[in-house]
Amino acid sequence: MWQCNACGYVWDGEEAPEQCPKCGAGHAKFTQLDDKAADLIERARYTNSLHMQIYALMEEVMAIAEEGLDDNLDAGCTKIFEQTLVQAEFVQQAIKAELQGHMKKGKWG
Ligand SMILES: [Zn+2]
Repeated sequence: MWQCNACGYVWDGEEAPEQCPKCGAGHAKFTQLDDKAADLIERARYTNSLHMQIYALMEEVMAIAEEGLDDNLDAGCTKIFEQTLVQAEFVQQAIKAELQGHMKKGKWG
């Protein structure tokens, strides 16, 4: 992996690119990441993908809860569906905040 020293973009490849796809800096602006730094980026990408899977599942959970609310069988069921909506949205907000934190710390390869 190679990192652009101008903007922080990480390039995957045997060689650095001719030009940074993000900021346009030249080949010489890239430095090769050591194994430890490359490993951290791989792990962050994996964790980010897990977060995104959960985020997408919460969308499905919320859609199911909305169907339950529409069905409106009784107060007990409605309460559970309402709580489901709140909890699923909370998980999504927490994921967004965490991923923004990763990007600020440069963990988003
Ligand atoms: Zn760049």
